[in-house]
Amino acid sequence: MSDSNDNGAKDFLQSTNKNPSSIMPEKLSLDSPIKFECHPGVSCFTACCHNVQIVLTPYDIMTLRKRLGMSAPEFISQHTEPAYLEKTDMPGVQIKLTGEKNACPFVTPKGCTVYSDRPTACRYYPVGMADFHEGGKEGAEEKFFFLVKEPHCKGFEEQKCWTVGEWRADQGVDLRDEMNKEWLRLVMRRKSFSLQATLSEAAQRMFFMATTDLDHFRRFVFESSFLKTYEVDSETVERIRHDDEELMLFSFKYLANTLFGAEGMTIRKDKVMEKVKVMKQEQEDNLRRIEEDYKKLKAEREQQKQS
Ligand code: SF4
Ligand code: SF4
Repeated sequence: MSDSNDNGAKDFLQSTNKNPSSIMPEKLSLDSPIKFECHPGVSCFTACCHNVQIVLTPYDIMTLRKRLGMSAPEFISQHTEPAYLEKTDMPGVQIKLTGEKNACPFVTPKGCTVYSDRPTACRYYPVGMADFHEGGKEGAEEKFFFLVKEPHCKGFEEQKCWTVGEWRADQGVDLRDEMNKEWLRLVMRRKSFSLQATLSEAAQRMFFMATTDLDHFRRFVFESSFLKTYEVDSETVERIRHDDEELMLFSFKYLANTLFGAEGMTIRKDKVMEKVKVMKQEQEDNLRRIEEDYKKLKAEREQQKQS
């Protein structure tokens, strides 16, 4: 949707409840032409801000709550409800619709009240992006675009023509894509595992905390043994201490490492040595126990022979 001054968009990428028949079966590239315009004069203005599923990315949460001057817990409890991400067991949030009309809490008859900070999902519509990651592997990606033409959306009856690339630039999706990239990769990775091995409750809690509440995650990094456990260079430490974007990107790296064993985080040598020491001790204890059991068994046999 657009505000009263500008062209707007609404998501497809995260809106998994779209009718598949609305998806045009043509693969588009950045150079493909599209005829579409959204402005306050269209008869359907703000129709797409009702009865819609808008899953929020960590970057969306960060920018929206700042725009509204709210803390993450305030924003999450007031404006969102829980949602699992892309049919995985990864917990996330979606916008909580309000009122009889199931409206987004930020819509008014004049348009979107948070327009310049609207979520990623709202920027994509009606140009969906498919981004396949084969098993979450780097380099094994295929990206293309497609149109979502829903009967209520009259923007396709407007005369404005542009390419997919021009549309996306107008909507400011490139920055969003960059900010969401590693988070999306985590979700796709998880999806590729299907639900054979479920995430532990602790892992789910950590994922939710790191991706929805950066203040909490910052406390976790700076007020726990985190920095004594992981090697984090001093420049990064200073950047993530005050800069939320940097902290968010760092959290994705941390999650990729803890959830999927991805590279990018190194456990401090002394911690590794401590762990090795504990494992060695455990091995020695085990060996000693086996030896003792063997001696006991031998003694019992000797006794049996004598009697
Ligand atoms: S944030 Fe809400 S009001 Fe704004 S464009 Fe998205 S759905 Fe519409
Ligand atoms: S339904 Fe389509 S044309 Fe109407 S406000 Fe939403 S995006 Fe714009």
